[in-house]
Amino acid sequence: MHTKTIAELLKILDKGECSSEELTKIYLARIQKLDKTLNSFITITEEFALSAARIADEKRRKEDKAPLLGVPIAHKDIFCTQGIKTSCGSKMLDNFISPYDATIVTKLKEAGTILLGKTNMDEFAMGSSNETSFYGPVHNPWDPALVAGGSSGGSAAAVAANLTPAATGTDTGGSIRQPAALCGLTGLKPTYGRVSRYGMIAFASSLDQAGPLAKTAEDCALLLQAMAGVDIKDSTSIDNPVPNYNTMLNNSLEGLKIGLPKEFFGEGLHPEVEMAVQNALKTLEKMGAKVFDIELPNTKLAIPTYYVIAPAECSSNLSRYDGVRFGYRCDNPQNLEDLYKRSRGEGFGPEVKRRILIGTYVLSAGYFDAYYVQAQKVRKLITTDFINAFSKVDVILGPTTPSPAFNIGEKTKDPVSMYLCDIYTISVNLAGLPALSMPGGFVQQCPIGIQLIGNYFEEGKLLNIAHQFQQLTDWHQKTPLTFKE
Ligand code: GLN
Repeated sequence: MHTKTIAELLKILDKGECSSEELTKIYLARIQKLDKTLNSFITITEEFALSAARIADEKRRKEDKAPLLGVPIAHKDIFCTQGIKTSCGSKMLDNFISPYDATIVTKLKEAGTILLGKTNMDEFAMGSSNETSFYGPVHNPWDPALVAGGSSGGSAAAVAANLTPAATGTDTGGSIRQPAALCGLTGLKPTYGRVSRYGMIAFASSLDQAGPLAKTAEDCALLLQAMAGVDIKDSTSIDNPVPNYNTMLNNSLEGLKIGLPKEFFGEGLHPEVEMAVQNALKTLEKMGAKVFDIELPNTKLAIPTYYVIAPAECSSNLSRYDGVRFGYRCDNPQNLEDLYKRSRGEGFGPEVKRRILIGTYVLSAGYFDAYYVQAQKVRKLITTDFINAFSKVDVILGPTTPSPAFNIGEKTKDPVSMYLCDIYTISVNLAGLPALSMPGGFVQQCPIGIQLIGNYFEEGKLLNIAHQFQQLTDWHQKTPLTFKE
């Protein structure tokens, strides 16, 4: 049962072959038994889950038509969940019980999902390996010596190990796509504004976006359907009608124009990852797609630009954690300044402090024009590259990451080499575009991700391409041996 997709589970629930309560118990038991080696969950919400599952079963008996009724899922611990600890992977919020639900939490609840628990993540979503979490690193189910990717590494590891059918994540510079790639999953980062950010703890507000991590494109479509839409509580959410993603999955790929950016195939790309991308192209060509060479000339500026803008926004967003209203407070503060300094000094980990320092520096009066304003100009150039590309092609394809999962501890001493993991994902966030990572092969036992980047609001097209690809390939059906049974 635990290896099934959401689409399959819905059929099983519909036929009455299994109740939501039985299903929820299966996953809860797996989490209890198997998560010790992975560390993918921060909080397990057993009682909430079982009572919600019983209610879902009752509703099903009354022919309730909620689209995901009775399906267990997990939320990244960045989403506020009423009455449940919401830590954001930080000591700063280790004692924080959210008084309200994030909009996507409400929406997925209304769609009928059952919350199994909250997943581990890099502290405040800052990282590419899940090693900056206050709760310790997440281990990759394909090999526990390897990172699961980050910052949504707990969500990715939990789905890959069949501890939950699917999970939510957030992506500021690659945090859904990169862990999805390293754990062998399908992960979608929607267009900026497609999904509400209300109740999603802010890292870099102009880049953050929530999305699903699941086994298949079809499951991502089901989840996005429930998550997407305008929200009066988030003024950056966009009032654009949400299409029926499910009906788009089987569109033909005949004549689809795929762009290959030459900047994505240079130095630093693992040869076997490149090979997997070439093989994926062949599969898509068989289905009628045509491949074109394109250019995204400002790609090399994406990482430096991001590491000005994201820290600038985070330094502002994280100023609310002051030890006064909520979150961690130091013992015996001597005065207000001591309270601020020690609460923040003791509550934040080293990566978060590094970002706050960079952010306050680039926003300071003397350097604002040289760094922040300049970065915003380059951001515009990066966006224009994509707009030009989409005047020629329908979708852009490339690797999700330069290499498969690396060893835990391998890059922690070298932040720049860690930042380079996101070389193919970050420009997408700077431009606000949607992008998806789907499984496309293996290097030894480590999964590889293929990235598809779409034009604004073309999530349906990305899901369609990935779904068609998954009809002809079986990479997405592979399960790590230790977590199969
Ligand atoms: N790895 C990038 C960072 O550390 C992106 C993280 C994310 O998307 N949340 O900032």
